[in-house]
Amino acid sequence: FVKFSEVQKTYDGETLVVKNLNLDIAPGEFLTMLGPSGSGKTTTLMMLAGFEVPTHGSILLGGRSIEAMPPHKRDIGMVFQNYALFPHMTVEENLAFPLKVRKLGRTEIEARIKRALDMVRLGSYGKRRPGQLSGGQQQRVALARALVFDPKLVLMDEPLGALDKQLREQMQLEIKHIHEDLGVTVVYVTHDQGEALTMSDRIAVFNDGIIQQLAAPAELYERPQNAFVAQFIGENN
Ligand code: ATP
Repeated sequence: FVKFSEVQKTYDGETLVVKNLNLDIAPGEFLTMLGPSGSGKTTTLMMLAGFEVPTHGSILLGGRSIEAMPPHKRDIGMVFQNYALFPHMTVEENLAFPLKVRKLGRTEIEARIKRALDMVRLGSYGKRRPGQLSGGQQQRVALARALVFDPKLVLMDEPLGALDKQLREQMQLEIKHIHEDLGVTVVYVTHDQGEALTMSDRIAVFNDGIIQQLAAPAELYERPQNAFVAQFIGENN
């Protein structure tokens, strides 16, 4: 469904921050990119989103090159750490935005907004503005906005980074439930080993622009392939 082939990226023409990345992601999979700060996770996600262009190699989505697709045809939902909700719009208007861009009719837009808000348990918050919501609620709105247009692929970059531990764990479960209910493909970036181990079908452990190991959580934990993976997975566990 998603295929990275020999992808490399440099920003300065000198240092490769992503080195020869090969990765296949299956439809419906929850794939997590885990690794320390600066290891190339966000750059990889940005290339998948089409915001950054690979210096070398190709990225296919459903058999088509990401670069060749016009942005709104990519149908990729995105959730980032700093929400990026429109502050001057209500929750409903925030959710309507990606639907209007896709030129859906008014009745359809209203139905979809209701469904998306119910899914993240914010059914009665549609008329509020982001500033009138807690951090966790804002993050739920961001999640609803990423899902409201039925994307086939959702990208999440440290979406729970700004939340406290308890809320983070609760949101991990919710994201997992939504993933299972919708059958959507999720590519998730985190530096939190615990989060990666509980949520993912497979984890790609990044270090220094290279995938050190790609495996299911249990396998990573039981059979780390090298010293870096063993140490990184072992930390805080
Ligand atoms: P973090 O968890 O801190 O976000 P990361 O694993 O996501 O880290 P990247 O953000 O992909 O790592 O960064 C990889 C390297 O590329 C870093 O050395 C970073 O400084 C560099 N880098 C990232 N974005 C840019 C940019 N727009 N211009 C120049 N260098 C960049």
